[in-house]
Amino acid sequence: MQPGQDELTGLRDRRTFLSLLGRQVVLAADKRVPMALLVIDIDGFAQVNGIHGFATGDRLLSHLARQLEFVTRPQDYAARLGDNRFALILTGMMNAGHVELAVQKLFRLLARPMREGQAELHVPVTVGIAMAPRHATHSEFLLRRAEAALSRARRAGVRHMFAPDTAGDVDISDQWDLEVQLGGAIERGELSLAFQPKLAAGPLQPIGAEALMRWYSPTRGFVSPAVFIPVAERIGHIKKLTVWALNTALRQASQWRFPSGPPSVSINIPGMLATEPDLPELVEDALRLWGEGVQLVVEITESSLMDARAAFPVLERIRALGAQISIDDFGTGYSCLSYFRNIPADELKIDRSFVTELATDPSCADIIRFVVDLAHRFNLTVAAEGIEDVATRDRLMALGCDVLQGYLFAKPMPAADLVRWLDERRTAVETSIV
Ligand code: C2E
Ligand code: MG
Ligand code: MG
Repeated sequence: MQPGQDELTGLRDRRTFLSLLGRQVVLAADKRVPMALLVIDIDGFAQVNGIHGFATGDRLLSHLARQLEFVTRPQDYAARLGDNRFALILTGMMNAGHVELAVQKLFRLLARPMREGQAELHVPVTVGIAMAPRHATHSEFLLRRAEAALSRARRAGVRHMFAPDTAGDVDISDQWDLEVQLGGAIERGELSLAFQPKLAAGPLQPIGAEALMRWYSPTRGFVSPAVFIPVAERIGHIKKLTVWALNTALRQASQWRFPSGPPSVSINIPGMLATEPDLPELVEDALRLWGEGVQLVVEITESSLMDARAAFPVLERIRALGAQISIDDFGTGYSCLSYFRNIPADELKIDRSFVTELATDPSCADIIRFVVDLAHRFNLTVAAEGIEDVATRDRLMALGCDVLQGYLFAKPMPAADLVRWLDERRTAVETSIV
């Protein structure tokens, strides 16, 4: 075996692939001849190993490697990125139609099953495709685009998918610019946290606040987290941003004086980090530095927790550090009831859509009542966010929600304003304004 080669398949290994990709992306931009990156995953590979054994699994990987070599021309490259993930770099692709032909050739080759003793094994694959310079002009971003396209293809139940040309209504060059700017935003001091109070339902007393990230870009003005958080997730900055938010939120919260005792501070963690084994250590470090006298709450959206088996042990370890887990935007995912038995959580945060439609859609009240009942049986508290009027607040309290949050009480505000708000609030509660 030569250096840079994958031991099992003889294809290029991940490291060689990454340096090749770097070079080809630059060449594509310089020569203005597009290249395509295909990321290829074998579907259900774990089952093959489980049912037929690892030796068969290995033969299947080698079989796929050979088929990939049939698709490559002399100027192309095939590589194994790890486990059951492979990649093709196809250079000099004039347009997506050429790439489509290559993909169809691969599917045709794989339509013939692999012989394994008496049995025949099919090799179903899903392919994510991104092109340079159309989808990205940096190898790291291009790889992420292709991987994202693969995940999207999986979710859509199709065999291959190209990366989308635009993210929302932002065009590619603008998107590229956004990615570059976001990269240095922390260092340039452009990020901050806004805090939105959370109140205990009965006495309507503030018990803590949720930290919401804000990005002020000198050229764009305020950019919504709904825009930049998905970008940060895609380009690999989300961990850095989350660690920054965790430390900043705890540091600022350690200076608050809440009427009801030690304040809680909630931070949002994306689901993709919930399966990272070092997340508990990062939380532990932040708690050691700033956690004195503060209750940390980690909010994680229900829909991002689909890989529960991988996420639950990580969340358990975070709970063991004394932090609480809140399931954000609850009701929009697809949790089954058995999920409740094992869910390592302390709070369910009902999705804002149910709260907003409570006044007009009677079924929302039924759903909320059901969630509250179920949550309480499992010793979870229920939070409701997005409360904008007194009638909704009263309905939610009558339905048994424990924690309330929304513009009715306060909009997200800078840390210094929260301290002032708490003072004003004390007077307001005394005179029963809200
Ligand atoms: P989320 O965690 O569900 O946060 C609640 C969102 O609802 C916030 O939007 C908040 O400003 C808004 N909101 C609160 N009360 C009301 C209300 O009464 N009416 C209306 N219409 N909206 C209300 P924001 O700050 O724009 O954040 C949007 C989303 O971006 C968050 O949803 C969260 O998913 C994500 N996000 C924000 N900060 C972070 C962060 O630090 N890390 C991560 N990973 N995601 C974040
Ligand atoms: Mg949240
Ligand atoms: Mg939410």
